[in-house]
Amino acid sequence: MKRIVVIGAGPGGIAAATQLQNQAGNQIEIVLIERNGTAEFLPGTLATALGQTSPADWQQPLQLPGITVQAGEVTQVSGHGVVVDGDSLTADFVIAAPGLALDDTAVPQQPNIIPFWSPSTAATASDAVQKMQTGRVAVIVAGLPYRCPPAPFSLAMQLAHHYQQAEKKVDVFITTPEERPLTIIGNGIPEHLERSCAELDVAIYTQFQPDWGKSGENEVVSVDGRSQPFDLALVVPPHVRSPLLRHLLGDGPLVSVSPQFESDEPGLFVIGDAAKTPFPRAAGAATAQGKTAADAILARLGLIEPAPPHAPEPECYIGHGGEVFSKIAMRYPHGLPPNAKPEVYLDAPSTTLADGFAAAFKTWKAQRYQPQ
Ligand SMILES: Cc1cc2nc3c(=O)[nH]c(=O)nc-3n(C[C@H](O)[C@H](O)[C@H](O)COP(=O)(O)OP(=O)(O)OC[C@H]3O[C@@H](n4cnc5c(N)ncnc54)[C@H](O)[C@@H]3O)c2cc1C
Repeated sequence: MKRIVVIGAGPGGIAAATQLQNQAGNQIEIVLIERNGTAEFLPGTLATALGQTSPADWQQPLQLPGITVQAGEVTQVSGHGVVVDGDSLTADFVIAAPGLALDDTAVPQQPNIIPFWSPSTAATASDAVQKMQTGRVAVIVAGLPYRCPPAPFSLAMQLAHHYQQAEKKVDVFITTPEERPLTIIGNGIPEHLERSCAELDVAIYTQFQPDWGKSGENEVVSVDGRSQPFDLALVVPPHVRSPLLRHLLGDGPLVSVSPQFESDEPGLFVIGDAAKTPFPRAAGAATAQGKTAADAILARLGLIEPAPPHAPEPECYIGHGGEVFSKIAMRYPHGLPPNAKPEVYLDAPSTTLADGFAAAFKTWKAQRYQPQ
């Protein structure tokens, strides 16, 4: 039997493993490797930072019929297999979906500067968020790209709402290296985020690339010399390439891939946040890439006919505080970039979208745990 190893149980890895299983599960062996055998729902980061949930609320042990789940840390990868917890595991193909790594070391180590961008790292922020009685809280986007472009704005708005509800005199602001919030997506989204932040008195400082060398204990300074004082800084840390993929071609954090997501190393496919694509770092993009890579491998094994790429369907929920959410969705009815542009849809802020966010988490869980 041919063996296909998938690394990572995020949206990309789960989509790839499930597509392999659904299309040819009885003809191939599928091994899914994930640290601790447990997946984490990254959108739970914000509620955890706000102290509303704990990291455990967003975790799910893996159990998937027809897929061998192996808990462990992959330290080496090629098109012929992996090294996991020191042991070699050979494979006919490998699909790597390790996401992006967070470089906390690029951010000054200080009690009032907290880098995080996952539920498990967000728990460190929640105490500091609760303790603030008065002063300025900064949400600092340390660099591009980062996962889920609207999420830092959502964090800033939810923080502002939290302090306003508690009648605390805490001002929240956000800095971003972008010209405008989500300027690449355009289609009214920058205006939506600017307007929504303004409604909650969240100031946005754009084209602000922090220079941590010049910044002080209570002040962040940009590379062009602008400065903003703060009492607490919540930092979306620089996102860097997974050490696993360091040897592959690509720019900075992202790995160059073919239209089927094969890297420059034959047999090694890289999908999701780690892949250099014109799509946002979003779950709906990673899912489509996982399916496309799985189809390409099965076609190469002669198990299915070659299939066209799956179109991404990214959807991001933006919390405005309380139960109010808006939603950005992207669809590609005219083809994929660079040949065609996406359609961008915005659902205005409402409390009914909270149900959509809850349903997305329920689906995420069901995709990772299916009783035998
Ligand atoms: C705050 C926040 C909010 C978000 N909100 C949305 C949203 O509303 N909508 C949306 O579409 N997207 C959202 N995203 C983005 C989305 O979560 C990511 O784009 C998506 O998870 C990327 O999927 P992936 O499969 O590429 O990688 P990941 O989801 O990062 O998964 C990678 C997995 O690989 C594992 N792994 C990594 N290295 C190894 C190794 N060496 N050995 C073993 N296992 C390893 C990790 O433990 C992890 O489980 C959000 C992200 C954040 C941080």
